[in-house]
Amino acid sequence: MSLAPTLLQRLKNPDVFRSIDRPPGLPKFEGAATFDVFNPASGEVIATLPAMGQAEAAEAIRTAYEAQGRWAGLTARERSEYLWRWHQLIVTHTDDLAAILTAEMGKPLAEAKSEVSHAAAYLQWYAEEANRIYGETFSAPSNDRRMFVIKQPIGVVGAITPWNFPASMVARKISPALAAGCAVVLKPAEQTPLVAAAMFALAAEAGFPQGVVNIIFAARGDEVGRELCANPKVRKISFTGSTEVGRLLMRQCADQVKKVSLELGGNAPFIVFDDADIDEAVSGAIQAKFRNAGQTCVSANRIYVQDGVHDLFVEKFVRKLADLKVGDGFELGVSVGPLIDGQALSKIEAHLADAVEKGGEVLAGGKRIGTGTFFEPTVLTGVTAEMRIAQEETFGPLAPIIRFTDGDEIIRQANETIYGLAAYFFTSNLKRAWSVAEALEFGMVGMNTGRMSSEAAPFGGVKQSGIGREGSRHGLEEYLEMKYICMGGL
Ligand code: NAD
Repeated sequence: MSLAPTLLQRLKNPDVFRSIDRPPGLPKFEGAATFDVFNPASGEVIATLPAMGQAEAAEAIRTAYEAQGRWAGLTARERSEYLWRWHQLIVTHTDDLAAILTAEMGKPLAEAKSEVSHAAAYLQWYAEEANRIYGETFSAPSNDRRMFVIKQPIGVVGAITPWNFPASMVARKISPALAAGCAVVLKPAEQTPLVAAAMFALAAEAGFPQGVVNIIFAARGDEVGRELCANPKVRKISFTGSTEVGRLLMRQCADQVKKVSLELGGNAPFIVFDDADIDEAVSGAIQAKFRNAGQTCVSANRIYVQDGVHDLFVEKFVRKLADLKVGDGFELGVSVGPLIDGQALSKIEAHLADAVEKGGEVLAGGKRIGTGTFFEPTVLTGVTAEMRIAQEETFGPLAPIIRFTDGDEIIRQANETIYGLAAYFFTSNLKRAWSVAEALEFGMVGMNTGRMSSEAAPFGGVKQSGIGREGSRHGLEEYLEMKYICMGGL
């Protein structure tokens, strides 16, 4: 049975959108330009929003700047209470938020619900963490002085988020920033502004003071991005998205030596050693590859399988693909939704064509489904290091399987990428487990698991996958400055 008609109808009900039309901190907009938000499953326009630009961004920054000092002046416990209220409202409205998310992004409703819960978990975590901002006192080299470090909020933060996790990326940035005492101007991705707007509407209900949280809707990222980087009132940019845009933002922030946190692309290896539990490895690979239709930065982009278990792994992996149902995310039982747009589809097809031309073999899938942006879960074997699919982030439901013999050599190959976000491996050998975990040049390593994101853990990458961490106590530090105070004359 399809849930789509009733839920989409509800989205069209002005009562659901009433508060979304007016989220807090939405700057005045006098222009006539608008942009449409589409449901990627149907191509249907589900909302039309004002297309804001430099002037509105500057206005939102000014408002945030005026509010930030008062927000930082509250006690940690007071800030924490706002976050708790917001968390509670998100939990209460999980079903509506998930429906909005599925409608604008396409992921299956069950995944959307789990993403909204993950977003709420960040708010809960940082509501707690707000109370745990500690400084230091330490021994001075002479007795006539005392030395301290205090932690203070950085100031106004410009946050830019991607479309693939439009609820949790917002929460992962905003909640530590608010806990630290920063005010925020958010620009959500143009494809998925609605769930962010709905979350902001709930922030208004939670009673956040005027100007503390602000949102800008824009039809594209560059103009607002330039203002966030160039405006000296913004003291930090927190960005999640492609490595290409991350590099650009870093360059734009260079003139003011503005702080940046960057959560960028990945090219995760997923290594299955001969001694692995194959059923576990297959389930882990399916999860790490096909969640969100492969559109995750931690997606298993290169699946390396050792000689001794290669054929068995491939056989079981292909068999398990039959459990995946592709379709509209509102349909019950669907586990792989549409791709975000036609461009994403073309990239996948280009990667596939390149691999086949260089000798790769398609064992399952390999085609579009229908006229939308649906693509069959696909398995390729005979993949080699020089194929685009092994070099670049595919961001789709293509699973390239690469056979290997030498366990040491494969670590070298796995590390041979500009990216360093996530890596996975499966083994039952404890000694190997530690040496591989230490040798992989990635910010996050999943050992015998295909899923590791948690609000309690530091999420982020090395090399060109980014700078900084989100989640855990480390995520809070990204929004705090350290001030050394020396008291003399004692
Ligand atoms: P993208 O870089 O195209 O867009 C991300 C955001 O940046 C959007 O809000 C967009 O409007 C904005 N943007 C685009 N051009 C801009 C510019 N010139 N100046 C300022 N802002 C600009 O990325 P995407 O396609 O939305 O997301 C997919 C990418 O995000 C993938 O590479 C994925 O790996 C990465 N990602 C990383 C993480 C992580 O935590 N490391 C999480 C999710 C996604």
